[in-house]
Amino acid sequence: PLSTADLIEEHRICVCVRKRPLNKKELTVKDLDVITIPSKDVVMVHEPKQKVDLTRYLENQTFRFDYAFDDTTTNEMVYRFTARPLVETIFERGMATCFAYGQTGSGKTHTMGGDFSGKNQDCSKGIYALAARDVFLMLKKPHYKKLDLQVYATFFEIYSGKVFDLLNRKTKLRVLEDGKQQVQVVGLQEREVRCTEDVLKLIEVGNSCRTSGQTSANAHSSRSHAVFQIILRRNRKMHGKFSLIDLAGNERGADTSSADRQTRLEGAEINKSLLALKECIRALGRNKPHTPFRASKLTQVLRDSFIGENSRTCMIATISPGMASCENTLNTLRYANRVK
Ligand code: ADP
Ligand code: MG
Repeated sequence: PLSTADLIEEHRICVCVRKRPLNKKELTVKDLDVITIPSKDVVMVHEPKQKVDLTRYLENQTFRFDYAFDDTTTNEMVYRFTARPLVETIFERGMATCFAYGQTGSGKTHTMGGDFSGKNQDCSKGIYALAARDVFLMLKKPHYKKLDLQVYATFFEIYSGKVFDLLNRKTKLRVLEDGKQQVQVVGLQEREVRCTEDVLKLIEVGNSCRTSGQTSANAHSSRSHAVFQIILRRNRKMHGKFSLIDLAGNERGADTSSADRQTRLEGAEINKSLLALKECIRALGRNKPHTPFRASKLTQVLRDSFIGENSRTCMIATISPGMASCENTLNTLRYANRVK
């Protein structure tokens, strides 16, 4: 029979996969869809349905997750099964994290931040905003209303192992750990927010700050982790914290052989942090006494979310459907598989 501990463990980590549609560029070069979601929790990687002269033989592979979302699934639906349950967690004095993990161009920012394609700059349908909306809805419930909770938001970026405040002109911040192993990002702006609109404004500020001065928005964001947090406080004391993270692209492994030193270092740093992240989530799921959070800046700043009885996490692994992305897609699926 299942014990209470088993039940807690089972619900502590949720890992799911989201497939995006083939985009214009892929359709133009006639890339073919090699991903099928045959049921709500299965992902299959296979040869394209259309017959072509294959340059390589693709072995059929099947993976099972908590949920698998196909290319017709909306952000709202993905949200409902992933981050939505974690909103409850922070009201119940818990720590929650939700990660988007995948190769550049697979849909991490679309999922977390919203739609920034073409002229639309709509952050109202990303998971950041949807979570904020539900936080304010929950606050209205009599049970929570009487707690008199305040809501704050932070938005920062981790680039090459350094922390930059996206709500304060990308100021570089120091991370300190005190004697009690409390980790603090010194000087991080924590803005009080009173409604969803307030949050949307901060997301816009942070997003424009993130890409300012960059020649290509995607080139930069693919190399940095963006962390958006919703914090509940009661009499200034922490009540709960929800960290929503748009991770750096996971394809940077190849950079470790780049001729450019900076690129090599960045690639190595990203590999290190994604490896550390996997280990920290696994430790959380196994109630291990030691969480290797010091192995990277990303896991260090998220330390308090990886420990404690009431921590829960969700990973959304985003994948591209095309045959050309197959190698990266398989890497993403294997990583996500190992997290559980
Ligand atoms: P990443 O952040 O992983 O690099 P993006 O979120 O920027 O990827 O997505 C790349 C492009 O694909 C964007 O133009 C985005 O709007 C589009 N896209 C991503 N996911 C979806 C989806 N599920 N449905 C429609 N378009 C998508
Ligand atoms: Mg992105």
